[in-house]
Amino acid sequence: MDRQSENEAADAAETPDFETVAPSVLIVGAGAAGARAAIELVDRGVDPESVLVIGKRSHGDAHTTWARGGINGALGTHDPEDGWAIHAADTLNEGHHVNDPAKVEAVTRRMPELLRELDDWGMPYSRTEDGDIDQRYFGAQSFRRTAFAGDHTGESILNTLVDKAQSLGIPHREDVFVSKLLTDGDDRVRGAVGYDMDDGEYLVFDADVVVLAAGGYTSIYHRHSSRDDENTGDGPALAYEAGAELMDMEFVQFHPTGMVGDRYGDDWDGRLVTEAVRGEGGRLYNAEGERFMERYSPGQMELDARDVVARAIAQEIAEGRGTEHGGVYLDISHRDRSFIEERLPRMYERFADLGVDMATEPVEVAPTAHYGMGGVVVDETGETRIDGLYAIGETMAGVHGANRLGGNSLAETLAFGEIAGADIADRLAAADDSRGGGVPSAAVERHLADLEALANSDGAHDPETLLNELRDVLWDHAGILRDEGGLEAGLDRLQTVRERAADLDVGPVDSRSFEFALDLGYALVAAEAILRGASERTESRGAHHRTDWPERDADWQRNVTVAVDSIGAMRLSTSRPGTPSDGVQAALDAGYELDYHQLE
Ligand SMILES: Cc1cc2nc3c(=O)[nH]c(=O)nc-3n(C[C@H](O)[C@H](O)[C@H](O)COP(=O)(O)OP(=O)(O)OC[C@H]3O[C@@H](n4cnc5c(N)ncnc54)[C@H](O)[C@@H]3O)c2cc1C
Repeated sequence: MDRQSENEAADAAETPDFETVAPSVLIVGAGAAGARAAIELVDRGVDPESVLVIGKRSHGDAHTTWARGGINGALGTHDPEDGWAIHAADTLNEGHHVNDPAKVEAVTRRMPELLRELDDWGMPYSRTEDGDIDQRYFGAQSFRRTAFAGDHTGESILNTLVDKAQSLGIPHREDVFVSKLLTDGDDRVRGAVGYDMDDGEYLVFDADVVVLAAGGYTSIYHRHSSRDDENTGDGPALAYEAGAELMDMEFVQFHPTGMVGDRYGDDWDGRLVTEAVRGEGGRLYNAEGERFMERYSPGQMELDARDVVARAIAQEIAEGRGTEHGGVYLDISHRDRSFIEERLPRMYERFADLGVDMATEPVEVAPTAHYGMGGVVVDETGETRIDGLYAIGETMAGVHGANRLGGNSLAETLAFGEIAGADIADRLAAADDSRGGGVPSAAVERHLADLEALANSDGAHDPETLLNELRDVLWDHAGILRDEGGLEAGLDRLQTVRERAADLDVGPVDSRSFEFALDLGYALVAAEAILRGASERTESRGAHHRTDWPERDADWQRNVTVAVDSIGAMRLSTSRPGTPSDGVQAALDAGYELDYHQLE
């Protein structure tokens, strides 16, 4: 349909009221990535009043606050021989060489400076006796390069960024849910549509540039370490539906030790049991009392890489040697009570509150979906293939490859926040004064009519129930151990969820069920991309393990990309990542060993 007939068709229906907001730059996402991008824009001379940061939770409350462990950057506080090129090499090694080396270098090269800059802005880092920013090992790294603020690193980073943004007068609007991006065809972004979650008012954002910093997609798995209402795939799905491409969605990192809901209650299901329990000597046993890591990794035992330990636990459970609650035992009771209290205070207290004494009994754990390495395809500036649409932070793809190095995702938020902010400031400076073509009114009216219809639908299915069914589908078919038959069955089950999602029973716009209905739409896109990507990739690499293709295949040093085809279906293609620069190649050739022995 051409633009004129679209307008005529839309005119026929009654358009609900809406408020129009017209920032030059709309930043969807108020976590570390969105906040850092906004700061960069204003630092480079963009008028703060022309920027708007929105988030679907209250001010200062984004998923970033849940990151505790730390943020990577080769400062060399304790290990002066460390450098950004070695950080890049570690990232490529842990990513099994399907990361985009240019993006890895862009992040690792910037990080020392970005960590110092945060320090200047008041970040309460943990410090050495000399007052330097302290650094420790975290996951698999050659040197101690993870900076931290106690066990509240993410919260401290976000507080620091929010304070800085407020001092610059950057506007922020909380409790706003974005439901669609507006584009001219699929060439140029024009803004977004959403609503105020407090009063249900529709909002139309008329923006020249939109930055998606809307987080990741792992809470669409049955057991996951995120909050249920975050990381539902909004960022990737919004971009995909606007015509951008997604990549690497099949790579989902499972943390080996999540709490088991059937034992500790649903609210605790999937919440992390820190790797420090294993780092301090915790041992894993199956229900038959066997210390099973002896069979999987006799050298490293419980301290092997996350994906190795997660696979071992999944295998034990799948073969019937799990506990009655669907987990395995993690036991540190051979240590003194005082040692556990001192070294693992939060874990000790959490389990004590649940009536479990870690000093005398084991806890039950099972793997939990923790981080999606995939996301939106962007260029070196963070821009997607749609002019003016950027994707950064956990929403973007390319930095982590097939497995993420702990501490690198916070690094990615700051680095690509800065990169995208700088690029957008340049493009605004180069543009003439006139604003773009405005929002495509027919598309706005059509989408608002769709939202009205959704809010009034009294069909047969509850959106939250369907969202939970989708979570089961991914857990059962695209979890830690995958095979062709299981993935095909998963796509079939997903299709039945999709069919029922066309007949929902939904409450008004400001209700939880309305939010669940939109989350379900996003989750369907992300889930299909995961299942299709995992089917396509006939090898095992990093976090993706196919029991029918258990080996890594050199021909598969490729990325799987998905995009909408001309009839609205998902089209897959593959491409090879680039090659590292000479400096990073030299670091790779030097063969630094990733140290799995000191987890935190
Ligand atoms: C338990 C846990 C521990 C972690 N620990 C670490 C760690 O120690 N080190 C590390 O490097 N990484 C860690 N991570 C990962 C890291 O926290 C995240 O990758 C990072 O914080 C993501 O930041 P972000 O800014 O990209 O997105 P987020 O912080 O997730 O922010 C997303 C923003 O987008 C908004 N939003 C989403 N959808 C919409 C929508 N439809 N409309 C409007 N707004 C929307 C949200 O409200 C929010 O403001 C951890 C993750 C988890 C789950």
